[in-house]
Amino acid sequence: MFRSYKWQPHDGGRHAIPQHLAEHDAGRTLCGLEVVAGPDVWSSCERCWPTCVQCDRAWRAAENILPWPREEDSHAGVEVSADDELAQLR
Ligand SMILES: [Zn+2]
Repeated sequence: MFRSYKWQPHDGGRHAIPQHLAEHDAGRTLCGLEVVAGPDVWSSCERCWPTCVQCDRAWRAAENILPWPREEDSHAGVEVSADDELAQLR
């Protein structure tokens, strides 16, 4: 499946950048930071950096992936349906 973006460690966080950027290419993260694309292999330190919330949100919207964490409402909905199943068993 074609992806429009890839993840890039930058300034203590993991940001999403356009997939077409090659190493040393200048570009912009989804949250608007100017970056120079690095190698696709990250150091073990960089892997632990937190995911940029703004990039994550924009990336999920671009890829049609539901936001994470899920909204409280949908979580509650799961619990209600489990209760309904128990009620039917009684
Ligand atoms: Zn970002």
